[in-house]
Amino acid sequence: METIQIRTPAHSAAVDITDQVAARMRSAGVRDGVCLVYTPHTTAGLTINEGADPDVMADVLDALDRLVPWSGPYKHVEGNSAAHVKSILTGGSVQVIIDAGKLVLGTWERIFLLEFDGPRTRKVHLQFH
Ligand code: ZN
Repeated sequence: METIQIRTPAHSAAVDITDQVAARMRSAGVRDGVCLVYTPHTTAGLTINEGADPDVMADVLDALDRLVPWSGPYKHVEGNSAAHVKSILTGGSVQVIIDAGKLVLGTWERIFLLEFDGPRTRKVHLQFH
């Protein structure tokens, strides 16, 4: 298993980690297979989506804020239930096919770590198989 550390920049953020994943894939010498990308946090998520226009992920974060407002009739005393809900909605892992030494992603696709209660330092585990 490989682990990368990501310092997220804001309370909500979508951090493009594609280059870090690709670098670990190359240093591990993996040419073909699958990369499981997993974040072991209950207030963060992972997704694959458009990275060409940064407004897309800004819109996604805004839409999640509208779906799951920070303030609400929550019971959790830590006060970050919205972040937990967003983490569940987005999921905490993605898998990417590796073919001929490249991550198989669509033209506009990037791998994003989603921060819902930052800024913090987050771990992302990678398992190549
Ligand atoms: Zn909490």
